[in-house]
Amino acid sequence: MPVIEPIYSIEKGCEVYHNHSECTERNNIEARNIRAGRGEKRLCKHCQNLASQDHLMTLAAMSNHPLFGKGGSLLEMAAILTGKK
Ligand SMILES: [Zn+2]
Repeated sequence: MPVIEPIYSIEKGCEVYHNHSECTERNNIEARNIRAGRGEKRLCKHCQNLASQDHLMTLAAMSNHPLFGKGGSLLEMAAILTGKK
């Protein structure tokens, strides 16, 4: 699974933690600056986006919704699956 144990950087100015293995920012943190946990920081936006994309794709794959595979956009489907449509 791409969502992993949270880590953060002790570098000055880093105010987020990361929990997605594909986050480029996370992968740019130097090994010596990495600490486990959230460090009382907020979740990185990239990680958040990546996670919601994963979630959406999982839902899409599992869903038999008629929109799936019939030109329905992921955004439309997201709206439906989250009850906003
Ligand atoms: Zn991140």
